[in-house]
Amino acid sequence: MRKQLRLGIMGGTFDPIHYGHLVTAEEALVQFNLDRVVFMPTGIPVRKTHRAVTSAEHRYLMTVIATASNPDFEVSRLEIDRPGPTYTVETIHALRDLYGLHADLFFITGADAVWDILTWKDSAELAEACTFIAATRPGFDLGRFSEERERGIRIETMEVPALAISSTDLRERFAGRRPVRYLTPEAVAAYAEKNSLYSDGTTR
Ligand code: NAP
Repeated sequence: MRKQLRLGIMGGTFDPIHYGHLVTAEEALVQFNLDRVVFMPTGIPVRKTHRAVTSAEHRYLMTVIATASNPDFEVSRLEIDRPGPTYTVETIHALRDLYGLHADLFFITGADAVWDILTWKDSAELAEACTFIAATRPGFDLGRFSEERERGIRIETMEVPALAISSTDLRERFAGRRPVRYLTPEAVAAYAEKNSLYSDGTTR
Protein backbone atom coordinates (compact mmCIF):
# COMPACT_ATOMS: atom_id res chain seq x y z
CA MET A 1 0.00 0.00 0.00
CA ARG A 2 1.21 3.49 -0.87
CA LYS A 3 2.53 5.36 2.18
CA GLN A 4 0.62 8.49 3.17
CA LEU A 5 2.88 11.54 2.62
CA ARG A 6 3.05 14.17 5.37
CA LEU A 7 3.72 17.36 3.45
CA GLY A 8 4.55 20.69 5.08
CA ILE A 9 3.77 23.83 3.08
CA MET A 10 5.64 26.84 4.40
CA GLY A 11 3.60 29.86 3.30
CA GLY A 12 4.93 33.40 3.55
CA THR A 13 5.94 36.53 1.69
CA PHE A 14 9.63 35.98 2.56
CA ASP A 15 10.61 39.61 1.95
CA PRO A 16 13.31 38.61 2.74
CA ILE A 17 13.59 35.06 4.10
CA HIS A 18 15.55 34.83 7.39
CA TYR A 19 16.77 32.31 9.97
CA GLY A 20 13.44 32.58 11.89
CA HIS A 21 11.67 31.07 8.86
CA LEU A 22 14.31 28.36 8.40
CA VAL A 23 14.24 27.34 12.08
CA THR A 24 10.41 27.27 11.95
CA ALA A 25 10.40 24.90 8.97
CA GLU A 26 13.00 22.61 10.57
CA GLU A 27 11.08 22.54 13.87
CA ALA A 28 7.83 21.71 12.08
CA LEU A 29 9.55 18.95 10.10
CA VAL A 30 10.69 17.26 13.30
CA GLN A 31 7.79 18.02 15.68
CA PHE A 32 5.10 16.96 13.19
CA ASN A 33 7.05 14.13 11.61
CA LEU A 34 6.79 15.64 8.11
CA ASP A 35 8.41 13.98 5.09
CA ARG A 36 9.45 17.34 3.62
CA VAL A 37 8.67 21.03 3.69
CA VAL A 38 7.83 22.93 0.52
CA PHE A 39 8.44 26.68 0.82
CA MET A 40 5.67 28.54 -0.98
CA PRO A 41 6.53 32.21 -1.56
CA THR A 42 3.31 34.21 -1.95
CA GLY A 43 2.72 35.68 -5.42
CA ILE A 44 0.66 38.80 -4.75
CA PRO A 45 -0.18 38.90 -1.01
CA VAL A 46 -3.85 39.81 -0.51
CA ARG A 47 -3.35 41.80 2.68
CA LYS A 48 -0.28 43.89 1.84
CA THR A 49 -1.96 47.00 0.51
CA HIS A 50 -0.07 49.27 2.96
CA ARG A 51 3.36 48.67 1.41
CA ALA A 52 4.96 47.60 -1.83
CA VAL A 53 6.33 44.07 -1.86
CA THR A 54 9.58 43.05 -3.55
CA SER A 55 9.05 41.31 -6.90
CA ALA A 56 8.06 37.66 -6.63
CA GLU A 57 11.06 36.50 -8.66
CA HIS A 58 13.56 38.09 -6.24
CA ARG A 59 11.71 36.66 -3.20
CA TYR A 60 11.58 33.24 -4.85
CA LEU A 61 15.31 33.27 -5.66
CA MET A 62 16.27 34.32 -2.12
CA THR A 63 14.15 31.42 -0.81
CA VAL A 64 15.91 28.99 -3.15
CA ILE A 65 19.33 30.29 -2.04
CA ALA A 66 18.43 30.02 1.66
CA THR A 67 17.07 26.45 1.46
CA ALA A 68 19.46 24.94 -1.11
CA SER A 69 21.61 22.98 1.34
CA ASN A 70 18.71 21.23 3.14
CA PRO A 71 17.61 17.98 1.43
CA ASP A 72 14.24 18.09 3.25
CA PHE A 73 13.35 21.54 1.90
CA GLU A 74 11.98 22.45 -1.55
CA VAL A 75 10.67 25.69 -3.05
CA SER A 76 7.56 25.88 -5.21
CA ARG A 77 6.70 28.41 -7.94
CA LEU A 78 3.00 27.53 -7.69
CA GLU A 79 1.88 30.81 -6.13
CA ILE A 80 4.28 33.16 -7.87
CA ASP A 81 3.34 31.76 -11.29
CA ARG A 82 -0.41 31.98 -10.64
CA PRO A 83 -1.84 35.30 -11.84
CA GLY A 84 -3.91 37.48 -9.51
CA PRO A 85 -3.96 37.76 -5.71
CA THR A 86 -2.72 34.71 -3.82
CA TYR A 87 -5.41 32.76 -1.98
CA THR A 88 -4.22 29.80 0.09
CA VAL A 89 -7.34 27.79 -0.76
CA GLU A 90 -6.34 27.80 -4.46
CA THR A 91 -2.87 26.52 -3.53
CA ILE A 92 -4.36 23.72 -1.46
CA HIS A 93 -6.62 22.77 -4.41
CA ALA A 94 -3.61 22.66 -6.72
CA LEU A 95 -1.71 20.43 -4.27
CA ARG A 96 -4.72 18.14 -3.93
CA ASP A 97 -4.80 17.81 -7.75
CA LEU A 98 -1.12 16.89 -7.65
CA TYR A 99 -1.14 14.43 -4.74
CA GLY A 100 -4.77 13.28 -4.51
CA LEU A 101 -5.57 11.84 -1.12
CA HIS A 102 -2.08 10.39 -0.73
CA ALA A 103 -0.84 13.43 1.18
CA ASP A 104 -1.76 14.97 4.52
CA LEU A 105 -1.21 18.69 4.13
CA PHE A 106 0.19 20.91 6.91
CA PHE A 107 0.17 24.63 6.17
CA ILE A 108 2.88 26.31 8.27
CA THR A 109 2.96 30.06 8.76
CA GLY A 110 3.19 32.84 11.34
CA ALA A 111 0.55 32.84 14.10
CA ASP A 112 -0.21 36.52 13.39
CA ALA A 113 -1.19 35.57 9.85
CA VAL A 114 -3.37 32.64 11.02
CA TRP A 115 -5.05 35.00 13.51
CA ASP A 116 -7.56 36.25 10.91
CA ILE A 117 -7.97 32.93 9.12
CA LEU A 118 -11.77 32.98 9.48
CA THR A 119 -11.75 35.91 7.03
CA TRP A 120 -9.60 34.11 4.44
CA LYS A 121 -11.27 33.04 1.20
CA ASP A 122 -13.23 29.75 1.69
CA SER A 123 -11.94 29.18 5.23
CA ALA A 124 -14.45 26.36 5.80
CA GLU A 125 -13.00 24.51 2.82
CA LEU A 126 -9.48 25.14 4.13
CA ALA A 127 -10.51 23.64 7.46
CA GLU A 128 -11.40 20.39 5.71
CA ALA A 129 -8.33 20.25 3.52
CA CYS A 130 -5.36 20.83 5.81
CA THR A 131 -3.98 21.31 9.30
CA PHE A 132 -2.47 24.68 10.16
CA ILE A 133 0.77 24.98 12.10
CA ALA A 134 0.95 28.48 13.56
CA ALA A 135 4.48 29.47 14.54
CA THR A 136 4.57 31.85 17.48
CA ARG A 137 7.09 33.94 19.28
CA PRO A 138 7.44 33.07 23.01
CA GLY A 139 4.72 34.80 25.04
CA PHE A 140 2.00 34.46 22.40
CA ASP A 141 -1.40 33.66 23.98
CA LEU A 142 -1.95 30.08 22.82
CA GLY A 143 -5.63 30.25 23.86
CA ARG A 144 -6.19 32.81 21.11
CA PHE A 145 -7.32 30.22 18.56
CA SER A 146 -10.25 28.78 20.55
CA GLU A 147 -12.92 30.30 18.25
CA GLU A 148 -11.16 29.01 15.12
CA ARG A 149 -10.91 25.52 16.66
CA GLU A 150 -14.61 25.60 17.58
CA ARG A 151 -15.32 26.29 13.90
CA GLY A 152 -13.46 23.10 12.98
CA ILE A 153 -10.15 24.60 11.85
CA ARG A 154 -7.30 22.34 12.91
CA ILE A 155 -4.62 24.67 14.32
CA GLU A 156 -1.48 23.42 16.01
CA THR A 157 0.86 25.95 17.59
CA MET A 158 4.62 25.83 17.82
CA GLU A 159 6.78 28.21 19.84
CA VAL A 160 9.87 29.33 17.92
CA PRO A 161 12.24 31.67 19.81
CA ALA A 162 14.14 32.46 16.58
CA LEU A 163 11.02 34.28 15.33
CA ALA A 164 12.29 37.31 17.24
CA ILE A 165 13.91 37.90 13.83
CA SER A 166 11.52 39.61 11.41
CA SER A 167 11.56 40.58 7.74
CA THR A 168 10.45 44.11 8.67
CA ASP A 169 13.49 44.55 10.92
CA LEU A 170 15.76 43.10 8.23
CA ARG A 171 14.48 45.52 5.56
CA GLU A 172 15.12 48.42 7.96
CA ARG A 173 18.60 47.11 8.68
CA PHE A 174 19.44 46.88 4.96
CA ALA A 175 18.13 50.42 4.39
CA GLY A 176 20.08 51.76 7.37
CA ARG A 177 23.24 49.81 6.45
CA ARG A 178 23.14 48.07 9.84
CA PRO A 179 24.37 44.46 10.31
CA VAL A 180 22.27 41.55 9.07
CA ARG A 181 24.84 38.82 9.67
CA TYR A 182 23.46 35.86 11.71
CA LEU A 183 19.88 37.02 11.00
CA THR A 184 19.69 35.71 7.42
CA PRO A 185 22.07 33.47 5.41
CA GLU A 186 25.05 35.41 4.03
CA ALA A 187 24.15 34.42 0.46
CA VAL A 188 20.68 35.96 0.89
CA ALA A 189 22.21 39.18 2.24
CA ALA A 190 24.66 39.24 -0.70
CA TYR A 191 21.81 38.72 -3.20
CA ALA A 192 19.74 41.52 -1.63
CA GLU A 193 22.71 43.89 -1.67
CA LYS A 194 23.76 43.00 -5.22
CA ASN A 195 20.23 43.78 -6.46
CA SER A 196 19.77 46.83 -4.17
CA LEU A 197 16.51 45.30 -2.93
CA TYR A 198 16.12 47.25 0.29
CA SER A 199 18.91 49.82 0.16
CA ASP A 200 16.79 52.96 -0.25
CA GLY A 201 13.64 51.84 1.55
CA THR A 202 11.77 51.16 -1.73
CA THR A 203 11.21 47.72 -3.24
CA ARG A 204 12.39 46.15 -6.51
P1 NAP B 1 2.30 38.48 7.27
O1 NAP B 1 1.02 39.18 7.62
O2 NAP B 1 3.31 39.24 6.49
O3 NAP B 1 2.99 37.90 8.54
C1 NAP B 1 2.42 37.93 9.82
C2 NAP B 1 3.48 37.49 10.80
O4 NAP B 1 3.81 36.11 10.58
C3 NAP B 1 4.78 38.27 10.69
O5 NAP B 1 5.31 38.41 11.98
C4 NAP B 1 5.63 37.35 9.82
O6 NAP B 1 7.02 37.54 10.06
C5 NAP B 1 5.21 35.97 10.29
N1 NAP B 1 5.35 34.95 9.23
C6 NAP B 1 4.88 35.00 7.96
N2 NAP B 1 5.15 33.85 7.31
C7 NAP B 1 5.81 33.06 8.21
C8 NAP B 1 6.34 31.74 8.16
N3 NAP B 1 6.21 31.00 7.05
N4 NAP B 1 6.93 31.26 9.25
C9 NAP B 1 7.03 31.99 10.38
N5 NAP B 1 6.56 33.24 10.51
C10 NAP B 1 5.95 33.77 9.44
O7 NAP B 1 1.94 37.13 6.53
P2 NAP B 1 1.91 36.85 4.99
O8 NAP B 1 3.31 36.53 4.59
O9 NAP B 1 1.16 37.93 4.26
O10 NAP B 1 0.98 35.54 4.92
C11 NAP B 1 1.39 34.32 5.48
C12 NAP B 1 0.77 33.18 4.67
O11 NAP B 1 -0.65 33.20 4.82
C13 NAP B 1 1.04 33.31 3.18
O12 NAP B 1 1.22 32.04 2.64
C14 NAP B 1 -0.24 33.93 2.64
O13 NAP B 1 -0.50 33.63 1.27
C15 NAP B 1 -1.27 33.29 3.55
N6 NAP B 1 -2.49 34.14 3.63
C16 NAP B 1 -3.56 33.76 2.92
C17 NAP B 1 -4.71 34.54 2.92
C18 NAP B 1 -5.91 34.09 2.11
O14 NAP B 1 -5.87 33.01 1.53
N7 NAP B 1 -6.95 34.89 2.06
C19 NAP B 1 -4.74 35.72 3.68
C20 NAP B 1 -3.61 36.09 4.40
C21 NAP B 1 -2.47 35.28 4.38
P3 NAP B 1 7.99 37.91 8.82
O15 NAP B 1 7.48 39.22 8.29
O16 NAP B 1 9.33 37.99 9.45
O17 NAP B 1 7.81 36.79 7.82
